[in-house]
Amino acid sequence: MGSSVENATLHPETSPSSVRPIYLDHHATTPVDPRVAEVVLSTMVQRYGNPNSVAHSFGDVAAGIIHRSRDDVARLVGAAPEDVRFTGSATEALRLVIGLEMAARGGSFTVAASRIEHPAVIDMLTAAERAGFLMVDWIDCDAQGLVSLTAIADAIDRRPALLFLMAANNEVGTIQPVAEAAVLTRSANVGLVVDASQAAGRLPIDVSASLIDYLILSSHKLYGPKGAAALVGLELRDKASPFPLEAHAPTPNTAAIAGFGEACRLRRLEMAVDEAQIGNLRDRLAVRLAAAIPDMVVNGARAPRIAGNLNFSVAGVPNDQVVARLRDTVAISTGAACSFGVDGPSHVLVAMGLPNWRQETALRIGIGKFNTETEIEQAADLIATATQAVRSSAIR
Ligand code: PLP
Repeated sequence: MGSSVENATLHPETSPSSVRPIYLDHHATTPVDPRVAEVVLSTMVQRYGNPNSVAHSFGDVAAGIIHRSRDDVARLVGAAPEDVRFTGSATEALRLVIGLEMAARGGSFTVAASRIEHPAVIDMLTAAERAGFLMVDWIDCDAQGLVSLTAIADAIDRRPALLFLMAANNEVGTIQPVAEAAVLTRSANVGLVVDASQAAGRLPIDVSASLIDYLILSSHKLYGPKGAAALVGLELRDKASPFPLEAHAPTPNTAAIAGFGEACRLRRLEMAVDEAQIGNLRDRLAVRLAAAIPDMVVNGARAPRIAGNLNFSVAGVPNDQVVARLRDTVAISTGAACSFGVDGPSHVLVAMGLPNWRQETALRIGIGKFNTETEIEQAADLIATATQAVRSSAIR
């Protein structure tokens, strides 16, 4: 692959592919690319100045790093560098959107959002609605996990101020019609908020061509370090911080931002090749699993999906039991794995209207660029064996 770990100068034992169990949970987080880790380390150790220090060159060097990272993030998504604001996580960036909108709009307003948004959006909007700051109009998806343009147009007719539509779903991987939705929101003067945490670095994104008002991306989903994310958008130019310019600016996490920028640069150069290979691995895994478990059903199978995603259900095989059996050998999750450890049916599979048995047995797999063919074959056999074992213990 374009980003083979062979190129890495870190010790092999610290390279992502040497980590066991086999890691197939790349929607939760990705390993840090060793080339990115080197940038993070050298920033921490050698370029440790405070970017807000104007008195000496340490500050200048650190400010230059922030500047370069902003440029690399912007280039990955077709934005202008001045439209990028760094945050510590996608969750924080999403909260910033609502904070800025509340500050700009004052009174209560309506926000439309798809029912399959990440809990970072759903929980935030639900809490804001409960507190009386806004009203939420939830948009349904279809049985494949796709939000239709008709559903989006209907929601726009109900005159929301903002519309949240994630670019790619974190459970079933479905790619939403963001560019088409943007045409509708723009002509109705509705602000479009696109959570691209799963899509950025996996799919081409062009903020300026797509008329997206706010776009969110997260470093740790694209082989960068945790602790950096970005809110990107033209809207940010008008909606300045409520704090005056002379107010104290927080010290940014320069090392994480440096790594985020490098990760974005690498994704821009290598994404197409890597994702094609990841797609091949996913198809190979699906074929091998289907041969061993002929009654498995892929969730969202008929929708366009990100290359590394495979979400499937097997009747009579509770997902938590399979995950528990695989705990030390293959890292995968149930559909609800991102819901902050809260057990229960996945809100995405519920929104898709899947029958209970498919919700209760759904397994989410996310393949990444460091996975090898051997790992995929081993993982397929281990997952199939665990599934069969859970099934036969349930029958007994
Ligand atoms: N949005 C989506 C689609 C996600 O998958 C995630 C994380 O799983 C988030 C938002 C939250 O990202 P972060 O961990 O950077 O807050």
